[in-house]
Amino acid sequence: MSDTFYGSDFAALEAFDPDIAGVLTAELGRIRGGLQLIASENLSSPEVLTALGSTLSNKYAEGYPGRRYYGGCAEVDVAENLAIERCKALFGADHANVQPHSGASANQAVYGAFLKPGETILAMSLPHGGHLTHGTKVSFSGKWFDAVHYGVDKDTEDVDYDEVERLAKEHRPKVILAGGSAIPRQIDFARFRAIADEVGAVFWVDAAHFIGLVAGKAIPSPVPHADVVSFTTHKVLRGPRSGAIVCREEHRAAIDKAVFPMMQGGPQMHTIAAKAVNFKECATPEYAAYTEQVVTNARALAAALGEKGIRPTTGGTDTHLSLHDLQGVGVTGVDAEARSDAAGITLNKNAIPFDPQKPNIASGIRVGTPCVTTQGMGEEQMQRIGELIARAVVDGDADPEHAVSREVRAGVTELVEAFPAYPRPA
Ligand SMILES: *Cc1c(COP(=O)(O)O)cnc(C)c1O
Repeated sequence: MSDTFYGSDFAALEAFDPDIAGVLTAELGRIRGGLQLIASENLSSPEVLTALGSTLSNKYAEGYPGRRYYGGCAEVDVAENLAIERCKALFGADHANVQPHSGASANQAVYGAFLKPGETILAMSLPHGGHLTHGTKVSFSGKWFDAVHYGVDKDTEDVDYDEVERLAKEHRPKVILAGGSAIPRQIDFARFRAIADEVGAVFWVDAAHFIGLVAGKAIPSPVPHADVVSFTTHKVLRGPRSGAIVCREEHRAAIDKAVFPMMQGGPQMHTIAAKAVNFKECATPEYAAYTEQVVTNARALAAALGEKGIRPTTGGTDTHLSLHDLQGVGVTGVDAEARSDAAGITLNKNAIPFDPQKPNIASGIRVGTPCVTTQGMGEEQMQRIGELIARAVVDGDADPEHAVSREVRAGVTELVEAFPAYPRPA
């Protein structure tokens, strides 16, 4: 059974290329040695990693199962059909396309399926929590399509649904897009659907961040409301770095043609096999319990930081992430990120709604609980992490040798030794 050619052979890599083997070892050491609070990251299972490191990477399989442009696809067809069926079952979707290489590739395909260059899309603005692929000028989406952006309400700091409705009526977009990368609150999908119906728009949800919470039933699903839902598979979902799309039956042909051949070439069959493994994991009671804990932990961490004067925007979170305003403690996002990093805590600076700073400085940080929850941490540990972040951010320094950096790092070490990432076999 343990023929290394099914999966990875680290000893062989180490012998042939110690430089790259060294990177793999060092990166695992980095993950194990610190707290990973990047809201878009997670720690996928050894089973997922094994499928990724397999000979399926070699196979050309342009087309779809049973309709390939290459021979020898019988085995990979089994993998892709399993991924499709598991994905449809997990989300109760009519159709699934599991070939997108990433979240951005999935989004590109959705544009390709529903819009011609120059047509209008209504999406969340990037500085208010959207995403680069939602019509920003540096992305294909903003260069080739006419993007109109809604934001958050000044008081609630949550999506301004009245503004969505007003802009939809004014601009008559072909597509209305909900979702983003820094939205802590549950999105009102029914409200978006009603607005889309009012103006005859396609309703698209980019669920890249929160689809894992949907898979584990920790939050309501966009699938019954949306025409199409695109997502990544490596965030809360905890699968391989990749993407996928689910849609209503009526859009099946448009989506499939847009992924291949319009946007992509040969699918990554090793990644598709890893997605199938991940979708199977996501259907277990253990994964459902995990997603509940991710949300419970995010609420606890947001509250712990709030107690230290690092205010959560919107007052908290319903999901796996919270966004924090540092203006009350007089620290910028860029400094907070550097001070945390020096203390063994990985998080990112983030613009907050109506941020007075430039995006590369920012007044906020974004924190997420997918990784630490995978490591088995709970609310008690979130309280501790909140204290450690506050100490590093408010009193600390970007120098790892600074006394506060050392002190916080000692606290981090205690936590990661009690709750190790990728624990070594006993
Ligand atoms: C992460 C993310 C993406 C892009 O995913 P990649 O796999 O990095 O291309 C797209 N949309 C949203 C909302 C995201 O959060």
